[in-house]
Amino acid sequence: MIIQVTDLRKSYGKLEVLKGITTQVAEREVVCVIGPSGSGKSTFLRCLNQLEEMSGGRIVIAGRDLSDPKVDINKVREEVGMVFQRFNLFPHKTVLENVTLAPIKVKKMPPEEARKHGLALLKKVGLEDKADVYPDRLSGGQMQRVAIARALAMNPKVMLFDEPTSALDPELVGEVLGVMKNLAREGMTMIVVTHEMGFAREVSDRVIFMDQGVIVEEGAPEQIFSSPRNDRLRAFLGRTS
Ligand code: ADP
Ligand code: MG
Repeated sequence: MIIQVTDLRKSYGKLEVLKGITTQVAEREVVCVIGPSGSGKSTFLRCLNQLEEMSGGRIVIAGRDLSDPKVDINKVREEVGMVFQRFNLFPHKTVLENVTLAPIKVKKMPPEEARKHGLALLKKVGLEDKADVYPDRLSGGQMQRVAIARALAMNPKVMLFDEPTSALDPELVGEVLGVMKNLAREGMTMIVVTHEMGFAREVSDRVIFMDQGVIVEEGAPEQIFSSPRNDRLRAFLGRTS
């Protein structure tokens, strides 16, 4: 198991957003997280890469216990790549610079090596020819693919995706899902929060349904989508599919 989450709790003041999440993710596993808006999906991901401090429970990622005060948070962030709904590319840097910045600054990778690695990653996401352009020249789908390449540039052990296609025009969704599908096929360990039920069904090994800060049901995609047990999951699927 590369990720172990035990009784994870997160509150904002009096608002308890995560009420005891327990789950594990195996190496090379692809897990999709579905659930209604406000159920705590983003907060869950943000706890996993320490963008949020947990209020209770335990998270162990690749052998690092995040609640251990001696844990190196920067190392954790290097190992856990994250892609958000909004691309957050640096507008004043070229596509390639967006990808190489962190490896050079944080990992102290020699610039020439970072450049080669960056170009290979841009090739992987189908954007080699955009290396020297600025983000404002790109479509939303292209920006999101750069964001994926940028996250991969740190050689993460795990990739987290928070609704990576929700802000895209419908015709651009496919190209981003295609890149993610390839990553999954190559064996990347991934947790993907998504409303793309087709993707969850086709690509994931397991689906987690969250509602009101808890995991209500989890299982193989076939089971979740074809024979959901929980009423709230049934209602959710009825509403979205
Ligand atoms: P989801 O991603 O499933 O839509 P979120 O994790 O974004 O859900 O949010 C879960 C709940 O936590 C919501 O009620 C939201 O308003 C609340 N919340 C999220 N972030 C914060 C924050 N920084 N401060 C206060 N409340 C927050
Ligand atoms: Mg969210």
